[in-house]
Amino acid sequence: MARILIIGAGGVGQVVTHKCAQVPEVFSEICLASRTIDKCNKIAAQLAMPIETAQVDADNVPSLVKLIRSFRPELVINVALPYQDLHIMDACLETGVHYLDTANYEPVDEARFCYKWQWDYHERFKERGIMALLGSGFDPGVTNVFCAWAQKKHFDEIYDIDIIDCNAGEHGQPFATNFNPEINIREVTAKGRYYENGHWVETEPLSVFREFDFPEGIGSKKIYLLFHEELESLVKHIKGIRQARFWMTFSENYLKHLEVLQNVGMTRIDPVDYNGQKIIPLQFLKALLPDPASLGPLTRGRTCIGCLIDGIRDGKKKRYYIYNICDHQKAYEEVGAQAVSYTTGVPAMIGALMILTGKWQGKGVFNMEEFDPDPFMEKLNKHGLPWTEVIL
Ligand code: NDP
Repeated sequence: MARILIIGAGGVGQVVTHKCAQVPEVFSEICLASRTIDKCNKIAAQLAMPIETAQVDADNVPSLVKLIRSFRPELVINVALPYQDLHIMDACLETGVHYLDTANYEPVDEARFCYKWQWDYHERFKERGIMALLGSGFDPGVTNVFCAWAQKKHFDEIYDIDIIDCNAGEHGQPFATNFNPEINIREVTAKGRYYENGHWVETEPLSVFREFDFPEGIGSKKIYLLFHEELESLVKHIKGIRQARFWMTFSENYLKHLEVLQNVGMTRIDPVDYNGQKIIPLQFLKALLPDPASLGPLTRGRTCIGCLIDGIRDGKKKRYYIYNICDHQKAYEEVGAQAVSYTTGVPAMIGALMILTGKWQGKGVFNMEEFDPDPFMEKLNKHGLPWTEVIL
């Protein structure tokens, strides 16, 4: 029985709140707080169990501290935006409460994400006797746990990891993103980066691609190399690793729109003078694009996210693939959100479950692959994200 505070009432917040409310024997008291309280109240009204809601600006540490002191949670689940991570971690430190998020910190004025800022909190969390679990979504999150599972059950040594993220869904909109448009476009337009033999290799945005044949009828699709945050922690924690890459599918239509938006400057994140007012083009674009939450009832098709892993077992080469397939419509029927939010929100709930039931314990700041994957893998099957493994 535990009290939890969820911060952020967007697509992922919708799913985490629903999924936590499905496990009242652990999450007995829930408070959902966000910048716009109406969004929290709308989600609260869909649930069978009563929850509290609150308005909070998660960039304001004293306001966060006040909210935490009044609700007294054991854990804060941060599903606001990556910009808020450090502020929420500061508030958790001040109040002595565990912390969990699904995306690593990113400064607003610089499209650069890395774990250093959050790893730097390790000693302070340790001294305070509390735990921060970073990246408990799907990718990062489940993909890290898949790698830990492969290391534990299938390999003596892992050499190559390819994380492959496919959204084979259709929402029927000319251009929209499946999660926060600002974060999504910053990620996709950044330079690619992968790990090879102890070094990071940088590539031009979306310049490296190949075909990948996805299972269960999804079929062959073009996948593009991107930098993704879990690569940074996996190369630190998976022993023997020589190569780590991240790939994602994009439709031709998405890429066509993105290219034009980039060419005309709409994806810029520096302030531009407009009629005597400073505006940030990407933030303005976000205001024009469909809210990802509105895509829920429109999206058809499936996602397929998994890890293709090469290594050695008993002196022989081994290739192994582990993946989850999630159906957009089924996710919407269950929790009122499409599969991209669902595949992020379910692991956030399971990560919280791991901490609150004592299955994963630690003092300091941790990534997912540092813990025993077994209890997490079992809960994925139970809570809506079953996985399949294949020896190739
Ligand atoms: P949304 O934009 O739909 O939701 C973000 C929510 O955070 C909104 O409700 C927003 O409020 C709220 N928020 C933003 N700023 C503040 C603030 N200063 N104070 C309080 N609340 C604030 O995003 P998503 O739900 O799609 O994504 C949530 C997180 O999940 C992001 O960090 C994203 O990067 C991460 N993610 C992780 C994935 C993974 O697999 N690991 C995959 C997909 C997403 P308002 O409604 O007022 O704007």
